[in-house]
Amino acid sequence: MIKNIRSPLVYYPKTINELLSLYKSMPDSLLYAGGTGILSTRNTKYPELPPNILFLRRIDELSAIRRSEGYLEIGACARLNRILGIGEHVLKPALYAAIKNIATKEVRNIATLGGNICSPYRSKTLMPLLALLDARIELRKQGGSRWLNVRKFIDPDEGFQEGEVLTRVRIPFNNYNHQSFIVTGDRADYRSALTFACFASVQKENIASIKFAAGVGNKGIFRAREFEEALAGRKLPLYGITEDPVFTRLTTALKNQEEEISSFHRRQIEGLFLTFMHSLNDML
Ligand SMILES: Cc1cc2nc3c(=O)[nH]c(=O)nc-3n(C[C@H](O)[C@H](O)[C@H](O)COP(=O)(O)OP(=O)(O)OC[C@H]3O[C@@H](n4cnc5c(N)ncnc54)[C@H](O)[C@@H]3O)c2cc1C
Repeated sequence: MIKNIRSPLVYYPKTINELLSLYKSMPDSLLYAGGTGILSTRNTKYPELPPNILFLRRIDELSAIRRSEGYLEIGACARLNRILGIGEHVLKPALYAAIKNIATKEVRNIATLGGNICSPYRSKTLMPLLALLDARIELRKQGGSRWLNVRKFIDPDEGFQEGEVLTRVRIPFNNYNHQSFIVTGDRADYRSALTFACFASVQKENIASIKFAAGVGNKGIFRAREFEEALAGRKLPLYGITEDPVFTRLTTALKNQEEEISSFHRRQIEGLFLTFMHSLNDML
């Protein structure tokens, strides 16, 4: 016999306004999109859920995907496989690879972009890349809305205010002609994996710009902007970069993060960056 199991009340709003009004009157409700993140953190046969659940996926507006001149706009409840269906030529290689790296095809059929961004783990597979792409999210509550950069959203002092729901994500198109996205570690334990994304724009054998981000487990996102700036304008091929004084900017930036990033992961980040640089040399 199953004891102490009480069914939660599930609400199925059909519009965003209806959702926001329900959420305002029941701020302790659980927002339920695909449920793959929610259920994967409740490791019991009969997961305990709060008394009220707001089911998001019957709201058509939340699944819309639009392309404008400057960005791709994706509704929070668009499923990951549907986003992949837009195609690599539009998403560009790094974003396409990142989404494809999440879980399995079956999970991606249910899991949503909004659920990925809002899962309580800070460094989910997509976050370093979305931060690098300057993606912005729309947060709405009854009577108000605001747009927030993903980088700020990750900041523990920012994030959700009471009654807010993530409704849309805007991902600017980019013209980086070299892109890399890599996840290292145990795929079954994505929460401790290292995620690395790197972009470079190479013009006439010169690095016009380069930027990268890495995220480890439940930590924040690592960037090394001074290092990126110092590399911009350098001519390729760039051999022996570890001997180049500019490289110390990366090692110093990583060392400054020693409380957040283990020496193992710091070495991995250096290695992934060097591999990316080699790939730029090889492409000439
Ligand atoms: C086998 C397996 C493998 C996985 N592998 C990965 C992986 O490799 N990388 C990875 O990043 N994740 C992984 N996940 C976690 C999860 O599947 C993804 O993060 C997924 O994108 C979550 O989306 P969802 O729609 O299922 O979110 P849900 O589970 O519905 O929600 C997740 C959280 O976000 C909140 N939320 C959802 N939508 C909104 C919204 N619109 N506004 C405000 N809050 C909202 C929910 O309240 C909840 O707290 C895995 C899960 C499983 C089961």
